[in-house]
Amino acid sequence: SEALLKIDDLHVSFATYAGKVQAVRGVDLSLEKGEIVAVVGESGCGKSVTAQTIIRLNPSPPCSIDGGSILFQGTDLTSLPIKEIRKLRGSKIGMIFQDPMTSLDPTKQVGTQIIEAIRRHEKVSKKEAFARSVEMLELVGISNPVERMKQYPHEFSGGMRQRAMIAMALVCHPELLIADEPTTALDVTIQAQIVDLLLSLREKLGTSILIITHDMGVVADIADRVTIMYAGMVVESGTVEEIFYNPRHPYTWGLLKSIPKPGVNGKERLIPIDGTPPDLLDPPVGCPFADRCDYAMAVCREQMPETTQLSDTHQTRCWLRHQLAPKIKNPITGRE
Ligand code: SF4
Ligand code: MG
Repeated sequence: SEALLKIDDLHVSFATYAGKVQAVRGVDLSLEKGEIVAVVGESGCGKSVTAQTIIRLNPSPPCSIDGGSILFQGTDLTSLPIKEIRKLRGSKIGMIFQDPMTSLDPTKQVGTQIIEAIRRHEKVSKKEAFARSVEMLELVGISNPVERMKQYPHEFSGGMRQRAMIAMALVCHPELLIADEPTTALDVTIQAQIVDLLLSLREKLGTSILIITHDMGVVADIADRVTIMYAGMVVESGTVEEIFYNPRHPYTWGLLKSIPKPGVNGKERLIPIDGTPPDLLDPPVGCPFADRCDYAMAVCREQMPETTQLSDTHQTRCWLRHQLAPKIKNPITGRE
Protein backbone atom coordinates (compact mmCIF):
# COMPACT_ATOMS: atom_id res chain seq x y z
CA SER A 1 0.00 0.00 0.00
CA GLU A 2 1.06 3.57 -0.59
CA ALA A 3 2.57 5.33 2.40
CA LEU A 4 0.61 8.16 4.03
CA LEU A 5 3.88 9.93 4.77
CA LYS A 6 7.18 9.28 3.06
CA ILE A 7 10.27 11.27 3.97
CA ASP A 8 13.24 10.75 1.67
CA ASP A 9 16.81 11.88 2.29
CA LEU A 10 15.72 14.96 4.27
CA HIS A 11 18.38 17.53 5.12
CA VAL A 12 17.61 20.44 7.46
CA SER A 13 20.00 23.02 8.87
CA PHE A 14 19.96 26.09 11.09
CA ALA A 15 22.01 29.19 10.46
CA THR A 16 23.77 30.33 13.65
CA TYR A 17 26.38 32.99 14.38
CA ALA A 18 28.96 30.21 14.46
CA GLY A 19 27.92 28.62 11.17
CA LYS A 20 25.46 26.08 9.82
CA VAL A 21 24.17 23.44 12.23
CA GLN A 22 23.29 20.31 10.24
CA ALA A 23 20.40 19.16 12.40
CA VAL A 24 18.94 16.56 10.01
CA ARG A 25 21.31 14.74 7.65
CA GLY A 26 19.58 12.48 5.17
CA VAL A 27 16.62 11.07 7.10
CA ASP A 28 14.29 8.47 5.54
CA LEU A 29 11.03 7.73 7.29
CA SER A 30 7.67 6.35 6.21
CA LEU A 31 4.30 5.82 7.80
CA GLU A 32 1.36 3.79 6.55
CA LYS A 33 -2.27 4.54 7.23
CA GLY A 34 -3.20 3.62 10.80
CA GLU A 35 0.39 2.92 11.76
CA ILE A 36 2.21 4.21 14.86
CA VAL A 37 5.88 4.96 14.25
CA ALA A 38 8.18 6.14 17.03
CA VAL A 39 11.24 8.30 16.39
CA VAL A 40 13.69 7.85 19.23
CA GLY A 41 16.94 9.47 20.29
CA GLU A 42 18.61 11.80 22.75
CA SER A 43 17.86 15.51 22.75
CA GLY A 44 19.55 17.20 19.81
CA CYS A 45 19.44 14.08 17.59
CA GLY A 46 17.14 15.80 15.10
CA LYS A 47 13.95 13.88 15.94
CA SER A 48 11.89 16.97 16.81
CA VAL A 49 13.33 18.97 13.92
CA THR A 50 12.36 16.17 11.52
CA ALA A 51 8.78 16.18 12.85
CA GLN A 52 8.55 19.96 12.92
CA THR A 53 9.78 20.21 9.34
CA ILE A 54 6.78 18.17 8.12
CA ILE A 55 4.50 21.08 9.04
CA ARG A 56 7.24 23.73 8.78
CA LEU A 57 7.13 24.82 12.42
CA ASN A 58 10.65 26.24 12.34
CA PRO A 59 10.81 29.68 10.74
CA SER A 60 13.02 30.13 7.72
CA PRO A 61 15.51 31.71 8.22
CA PRO A 62 17.26 30.50 10.36
CA CYS A 63 15.91 27.05 9.45
CA SER A 64 16.33 25.74 5.92
CA ILE A 65 15.35 22.55 4.14
CA ASP A 66 18.52 21.77 2.20
CA GLY A 67 17.39 18.65 0.38
CA GLY A 68 15.07 15.69 0.18
CA SER A 69 11.31 15.37 0.04
CA ILE A 70 8.36 14.91 2.39
CA LEU A 71 5.51 13.23 0.54
CA PHE A 72 2.19 13.45 2.37
CA GLN A 73 -0.68 11.75 0.51
CA GLY A 74 1.50 12.03 -2.56
CA THR A 75 2.20 15.80 -2.31
CA ASP A 76 5.72 17.04 -1.58
CA LEU A 77 5.30 19.35 1.42
CA THR A 78 8.80 20.79 1.05
CA SER A 79 7.71 22.62 -2.09
CA LEU A 80 4.36 23.93 -0.78
CA PRO A 81 4.14 27.60 0.24
CA ILE A 82 3.77 28.19 3.99
CA LYS A 83 0.15 29.34 3.42
CA GLU A 84 -0.76 25.87 2.15
CA ILE A 85 1.12 24.20 5.01
CA ARG A 86 -0.88 26.26 7.52
CA LYS A 87 -4.11 24.89 6.03
CA LEU A 88 -2.87 21.34 6.67
CA ARG A 89 -2.09 22.05 10.33
CA GLY A 90 -5.00 20.95 12.46
CA SER A 91 -7.02 19.70 9.48
CA LYS A 92 -5.05 16.88 7.85
CA ILE A 93 -2.11 16.89 10.26
CA GLY A 94 -2.65 17.36 13.99
CA MET A 95 0.12 18.04 16.47
CA ILE A 96 0.46 17.62 20.22
CA PHE A 97 3.38 18.66 22.40
CA GLN A 98 4.97 17.88 25.74
CA ASP A 99 3.47 21.04 27.23
CA PRO A 100 -0.28 21.40 26.55
CA MET A 101 0.00 25.12 27.25
CA THR A 102 1.82 25.56 23.93
CA SER A 103 -1.50 24.59 22.28
CA LEU A 104 -4.07 25.77 24.82
CA ASP A 105 -4.75 29.47 25.34
CA PRO A 106 -4.98 30.15 29.12
CA THR A 107 -7.35 33.09 28.57
CA LYS A 108 -10.06 31.16 26.72
CA GLN A 109 -12.54 28.50 27.78
CA VAL A 110 -11.46 25.04 26.64
CA GLY A 111 -14.72 24.55 24.70
CA THR A 112 -14.30 27.84 22.83
CA GLN A 113 -10.84 26.75 21.72
CA ILE A 114 -12.00 23.39 20.41
CA ILE A 115 -14.94 25.01 18.60
CA GLU A 116 -12.52 27.52 17.01
CA ALA A 117 -10.23 24.68 15.96
CA ILE A 118 -13.14 23.12 14.04
CA ARG A 119 -14.41 26.36 12.50
CA ARG A 120 -10.92 27.37 11.37
CA HIS A 121 -11.01 24.51 8.87
CA GLU A 122 -14.64 23.60 8.34
CA LYS A 123 -17.79 25.57 7.53
CA VAL A 124 -20.06 24.28 10.29
CA SER A 125 -22.50 26.04 12.60
CA LYS A 126 -21.48 26.92 16.16
CA LYS A 127 -24.11 24.49 17.37
CA GLU A 128 -22.67 21.62 15.37
CA ALA A 129 -19.13 22.54 16.38
CA PHE A 130 -20.25 22.57 20.03
CA ALA A 131 -21.77 19.10 19.72
CA ARG A 132 -18.65 17.75 18.04
CA SER A 133 -16.42 19.26 20.71
CA VAL A 134 -18.43 17.65 23.49
CA GLU A 135 -18.27 14.33 21.67
CA MET A 136 -14.51 14.65 21.25
CA LEU A 137 -13.95 15.50 24.94
CA GLU A 138 -15.95 12.42 25.80
CA LEU A 139 -13.88 10.33 23.39
CA VAL A 140 -10.63 11.40 25.09
CA GLY A 141 -12.07 10.40 28.46
CA ILE A 142 -13.09 13.73 30.00
CA SER A 143 -16.23 13.28 32.08
CA ASN A 144 -18.97 15.93 32.33
CA PRO A 145 -17.81 17.33 28.99
CA VAL A 146 -20.61 19.94 28.75
CA GLU A 147 -19.49 21.43 32.09
CA ARG A 148 -15.83 21.14 31.13
CA MET A 149 -16.40 23.09 27.90
CA LYS A 150 -16.95 26.23 30.00
CA GLN A 151 -13.79 25.86 32.07
CA TYR A 152 -10.37 27.41 31.52
CA PRO A 153 -7.20 25.33 31.08
CA HIS A 154 -6.00 26.15 34.63
CA GLU A 155 -9.12 24.43 36.00
CA PHE A 156 -7.94 21.18 34.39
CA SER A 157 -5.36 18.81 35.91
CA GLY A 158 -2.13 18.19 33.94
CA GLY A 159 -3.42 14.88 32.58
CA MET A 160 -6.76 16.45 31.61
CA ARG A 161 -5.03 19.31 29.83
CA GLN A 162 -3.13 16.72 27.82
CA ARG A 163 -6.44 15.04 26.94
CA ALA A 164 -7.99 18.39 25.97
CA MET A 165 -5.01 19.12 23.72
CA ILE A 166 -5.41 15.70 22.08
CA ALA A 167 -9.14 16.40 21.61
CA MET A 168 -8.32 19.71 19.93
CA ALA A 169 -5.69 18.10 17.68
CA LEU A 170 -8.05 15.33 16.56
CA VAL A 171 -11.37 17.14 16.31
CA CYS A 172 -11.02 17.64 12.53
CA HIS A 173 -10.04 13.96 12.15
CA PRO A 174 -6.53 14.47 10.74
CA GLU A 175 -4.98 11.53 8.91
CA LEU A 176 -1.72 12.08 10.78
CA LEU A 177 -1.05 13.02 14.39
CA ILE A 178 2.44 14.19 15.27
CA ALA A 179 3.06 13.73 18.99
CA ASP A 180 6.29 15.31 20.26
CA GLU A 181 7.18 13.88 23.70
CA PRO A 182 3.46 13.80 24.63
CA THR A 183 4.02 11.93 27.90
CA THR A 184 7.38 13.30 29.04
CA ALA A 185 6.10 15.85 31.56
CA LEU A 186 3.56 13.47 33.09
CA ASP A 187 3.86 11.06 35.99
CA VAL A 188 4.02 7.35 35.19
CA THR A 189 0.33 6.59 35.81
CA ILE A 190 -0.96 9.46 33.66
CA GLN A 191 1.71 8.61 31.07
CA ALA A 192 0.28 5.08 30.77
CA GLN A 193 -3.25 6.51 30.46
CA ILE A 194 -2.21 8.81 27.62
CA VAL A 195 -0.51 5.92 25.79
CA ASP A 196 -3.72 3.86 26.16
CA LEU A 197 -5.75 6.81 24.94
CA LEU A 198 -3.62 7.26 21.82
CA LEU A 199 -3.91 3.53 21.07
CA SER A 200 -7.70 3.60 21.43
CA LEU A 201 -7.98 6.73 19.26
CA ARG A 202 -5.95 5.03 16.54
CA GLU A 203 -8.38 2.11 16.81
CA LYS A 204 -11.50 4.28 16.66
CA LEU A 205 -10.42 6.98 14.20
CA GLY A 206 -7.75 5.19 12.15
CA THR A 207 -5.29 8.01 12.81
CA SER A 208 -1.64 7.39 11.93
CA ILE A 209 0.67 8.59 14.69
CA LEU A 210 4.27 9.75 14.50
CA ILE A 211 5.48 9.83 18.08
CA ILE A 212 8.73 11.53 19.06
CA THR A 213 10.22 10.29 22.31
CA HIS A 214 13.43 9.48 24.15
CA ASP A 215 11.64 6.86 26.25
CA MET A 216 12.06 3.24 25.08
CA GLY A 217 9.41 2.18 27.61
CA VAL A 218 6.79 4.30 25.82
CA VAL A 219 8.04 2.95 22.47
CA ALA A 220 7.51 -0.65 23.59
CA ASP A 221 3.94 0.14 24.66
CA ILE A 222 2.79 2.10 21.63
CA ALA A 223 4.85 1.68 18.45
CA ASP A 224 4.45 -0.62 15.46
CA ARG A 225 7.77 0.49 14.01
CA VAL A 226 10.72 2.40 15.43
CA THR A 227 13.29 4.73 13.92
CA ILE A 228 16.40 5.39 16.00
CA MET A 229 18.14 8.69 15.31
CA TYR A 230 21.61 9.84 16.27
CA ALA A 231 23.38 13.06 15.29
CA GLY A 232 20.78 13.92 12.66
CA MET A 233 20.81 10.48 11.00
CA VAL A 234 18.79 7.28 11.16
CA VAL A 235 21.09 4.64 12.65
CA GLU A 236 18.55 1.81 12.91
CA SER A 237 14.92 1.25 12.06
CA GLY A 238 12.64 -1.75 12.28
CA THR A 239 9.45 -3.20 13.68
CA VAL A 240 9.11 -2.93 17.44
CA GLU A 241 9.98 -6.65 17.67
CA GLU A 242 13.12 -6.22 15.58
CA ILE A 243 14.29 -3.26 17.64
CA PHE A 244 13.65 -4.87 21.03
CA TYR A 245 14.53 -8.52 20.27
CA ASN A 246 17.16 -8.17 17.56
CA PRO A 247 18.71 -4.69 17.84
CA ARG A 248 21.84 -4.40 15.73
CA HIS A 249 23.28 -0.93 16.29
CA PRO A 250 25.50 -0.17 19.33
CA TYR A 251 23.55 3.05 19.97
CA THR A 252 20.28 1.07 20.09
CA TRP A 253 21.96 -1.32 22.55
CA GLY A 254 22.83 1.68 24.70
CA LEU A 255 19.27 2.99 24.59
CA LEU A 256 17.86 -0.41 25.54
CA LYS A 257 20.26 -0.68 28.48
CA SER A 258 19.12 2.74 29.66
CA ILE A 259 15.47 1.66 30.15
CA PRO A 260 14.70 2.18 33.83
CA LYS A 261 14.43 -1.10 35.71
CA PRO A 262 13.38 -1.51 39.31
CA GLY A 263 16.60 -1.81 41.33
CA VAL A 264 17.57 -1.75 44.99
CA ASN A 265 15.28 0.21 47.34
CA GLY A 266 12.67 0.32 44.55
CA LYS A 267 14.75 3.05 42.92
CA GLU A 268 14.96 3.07 39.14
CA ARG A 269 18.31 2.01 37.76
CA LEU A 270 19.54 3.68 34.60
CA ILE A 271 22.69 2.95 32.67
CA PRO A 272 23.26 6.11 30.67
CA ILE A 273 25.41 6.11 27.54
CA ASP A 274 28.73 7.79 28.39
CA GLY A 275 29.83 10.83 26.42
CA THR A 276 28.01 13.36 24.27
CA PRO A 277 26.91 13.49 20.64
CA PRO A 278 29.16 15.24 18.10
CA ASP A 279 28.93 18.91 17.25
CA LEU A 280 26.66 19.24 14.22
CA LEU A 281 28.35 22.51 13.20
CA ASP A 282 31.18 20.29 12.01
CA PRO A 283 30.00 16.66 12.00
CA PRO A 284 32.62 13.89 11.81
CA VAL A 285 33.23 12.27 8.40
CA GLY A 286 32.91 8.78 9.85
CA CYS A 287 30.32 7.21 12.11
CA PRO A 288 28.97 9.94 14.43
CA PHE A 289 28.73 7.43 17.31
CA ALA A 290 32.41 6.40 17.14
CA ASP A 291 33.53 8.47 20.17
CA ARG A 292 30.99 6.74 22.39
CA CYS A 293 30.99 3.27 20.88
CA ASP A 294 32.62 0.31 22.69
CA TYR A 295 33.06 -1.45 19.34
CA ALA A 296 34.59 1.37 17.26
CA MET A 297 37.18 0.24 14.71
CA ALA A 298 39.64 2.35 12.68
CA VAL A 299 37.32 2.38 9.65
CA CYS A 300 34.49 3.81 11.77
CA ARG A 301 36.30 7.14 12.17
CA GLU A 302 37.42 7.29 8.54
CA GLN A 303 34.27 6.47 6.61
CA MET A 304 30.53 6.76 7.12
CA PRO A 305 28.97 3.28 7.35
CA GLU A 306 26.43 2.40 4.65
CA THR A 307 22.89 1.36 5.52
CA THR A 308 22.54 -2.44 5.61
CA GLN A 309 19.17 -4.03 4.93
CA LEU A 310 18.62 -6.83 7.49
CA SER A 311 15.02 -7.67 6.55
CA ASP A 312 12.24 -5.98 4.54
CA THR A 313 11.58 -3.77 7.53
CA HIS A 314 14.88 -3.70 9.41
CA GLN A 315 17.93 -1.64 8.53
CA THR A 316 20.98 -0.31 10.34
CA ARG A 317 23.99 1.85 9.62
CA CYS A 318 27.03 0.32 11.29
CA TRP A 319 30.40 -1.08 10.16
CA LEU A 320 29.81 -4.17 12.33
CA ARG A 321 27.37 -5.36 9.67
CA HIS A 322 30.12 -5.44 7.05
CA GLN A 323 30.99 -9.00 6.01
CA LEU A 324 34.64 -8.52 7.00
CA ALA A 325 33.90 -7.01 10.42
CA PRO A 326 34.72 -9.05 13.52
CA LYS A 327 31.84 -11.14 14.85
CA ILE A 328 30.83 -9.84 18.25
CA LYS A 329 28.25 -10.98 20.76
CA ASN A 330 25.08 -8.86 20.76
CA PRO A 331 24.88 -7.62 24.37
CA ILE A 332 21.07 -7.54 24.30
CA THR A 333 20.31 -10.92 22.71
CA GLY A 334 23.49 -12.76 23.76
CA ARG A 335 23.75 -14.07 20.18
CA GLU A 336 26.47 -13.34 17.66
FE1 SF4 B 1 30.33 1.70 16.54
FE2 SF4 B 1 31.67 1.64 14.24
FE3 SF4 B 1 29.16 0.78 14.33
FE4 SF4 B 1 29.70 3.37 14.54
S1 SF4 B 1 30.07 2.10 12.77
S2 SF4 B 1 28.28 2.23 15.77
S3 SF4 B 1 31.58 3.31 15.72
S4 SF4 B 1 30.92 -0.12 15.39
MG1 MG C 1 12.53 17.76 21.29
